[in-house]
Amino acid sequence: MTAVEKTCGPCQVCCVALKIKTPQLRKDAQIPCPHLVAKGCGIYESRPPVCRSFLCGWRLMPELDASWRPDVSGVMLLPVPEAQIPKAYRAAGPGWVLVISDAKKAITPKLARLAAGMVKRHAAVFLSVMTPRIQMNEQLEGPVAANDLDGVMRVLNQAHDRLKPAGTGKGLGRIWALYRAQVDRMRAKMEQRQS
Ligand code: SF4
Ligand code: SF4
Repeated sequence: MTAVEKTCGPCQVCCVALKIKTPQLRKDAQIPCPHLVAKGCGIYESRPPVCRSFLCGWRLMPELDASWRPDVSGVMLLPVPEAQIPKAYRAAGPGWVLVISDAKKAITPKLARLAAGMVKRHAAVFLSVMTPRIQMNEQLEGPVAANDLDGVMRVLNQAHDRLKPAGTGKGLGRIWALYRAQVDRMRAKMEQRQS
């Protein structure tokens, strides 16, 4: 099914999960939009442009069936424009953030296969638990090369467990430590290439 054929139905994940900072609408991540009512958007006909133009990865990717709808699957995919991903991954097009809202539902062989496919075609893959995202490619390359889906799930679960405390407002120092480690790794790679 294409984005046009798919409909959000009862899903309201993006209306709660995302941080929105536009002149028309401002809300923090993980806070329900003030316009959200039981049946969905209470101002649907006049919803702001940011909402009109937004489509999550499930809406955008025809190969994802109904079981991937974010409220069903526990994971929302968000596209990351090429300009916002490391140069080494841009040839594969946009990157993807796996925003995990329910790890038990989300981190399954199905998600492992999807992430492995992205890593194989060298697309940037990030993980977020409503935290700043971290890039996963380097950590996933080993199990993906070995066709080890359990290993892919293990890496995703470990990253989720490290990020989760930051997502619940604790352990913010840890997430920045992960970021610094990632930046250091990228810097070391760049220096290697230049030498
Ligand atoms: S997360 Fe996706 S499916 Fe759910 S409401 Fe938003 S755009 Fe629709
Ligand atoms: S305005 Fe409507 S569509 Fe936009 S975030 Fe709020 S509830 Fe969702």
